[in-house]
Amino acid sequence: MKFVTYRTADGQTHPGVVEGDRIRTISTPTLREYVALAQHERIAWHAADGLVPLDGVELDAPIRPARNVFCVGRNYLEHAKEGARTAGRELRLYDVPTFFTKAPTAIAAPGASLRFDANVSQEYDYEAELAVVIGARCKDVPEDEALHVVFGYTALNDLTARDLQRSHGQWFKGKSLDDSCPIGPWIVAGEEIGDPQSLGISLRVNGVEKQSSNTAKMIFSVKRIVAELSRGMTLLPGDVIATGTPEGVGFARTPPEFLADGDEVEVEIERIGTLRNTVSIA
Ligand code: MG
Repeated sequence: MKFVTYRTADGQTHPGVVEGDRIRTISTPTLREYVALAQHERIAWHAADGLVPLDGVELDAPIRPARNVFCVGRNYLEHAKEGARTAGRELRLYDVPTFFTKAPTAIAAPGASLRFDANVSQEYDYEAELAVVIGARCKDVPEDEALHVVFGYTALNDLTARDLQRSHGQWFKGKSLDDSCPIGPWIVAGEEIGDPQSLGISLRVNGVEKQSSNTAKMIFSVKRIVAELSRGMTLLPGDVIATGTPEGVGFARTPPEFLADGDEVEVEIERIGTLRNTVSIA
């Protein structure tokens, strides 16, 4: 099953489940409230009528978490290497995932024009990532049960202002600008994906491939990430975890490439779909 949030002509948003080329409305106010229901309760909230054509509506971000988006840095070896090389540092790998967060106000819709300010940063960069949506309140989840607390998966672009990321010493500011976290176009149910460690992941700028890898290459698997993050810390239904980006990001290219006004960026993940946005820098 694929879950979306769509916008009607009057500007209201509704969650829904995709059935072929139509959307069956879900009658909870938001998808986050639906995700928070026990699994056996969810079906009762699928509207009996109210099917709308998928291509006739504007999609919003499928889910908006109640708090910051959790992220993992340096989770693909080749990306960790290119980052160290560009910074002139020695490669250092850690025994646990490096977690940071993005502000929830950074979330943007699939298809949206992402509006950035040229006075705030001169180095807007992209990062294709598989995002995990948590489906149950949980804590201290053992690794072998971790996929049971996953509601589903979506595509995410961890857009980053590299100059801010560098100058602030930690990553939060450079990763949290408005519109720097588009997600979507939908969330695919966890049961439908099965093993999340065998999905092709790629990114294109204006149709030119810049990143191409597979989630098999993650240093820390989705299971391990959920286990580590939930250790002594409660996770909530609707929490979003971005699982890191593979190599090929703009700042590590020779010469470095940053996003320009009008660029189209696409994150494609096998069996999930394509998250497409344009960038507007003024
Ligand atoms: Mg990232």
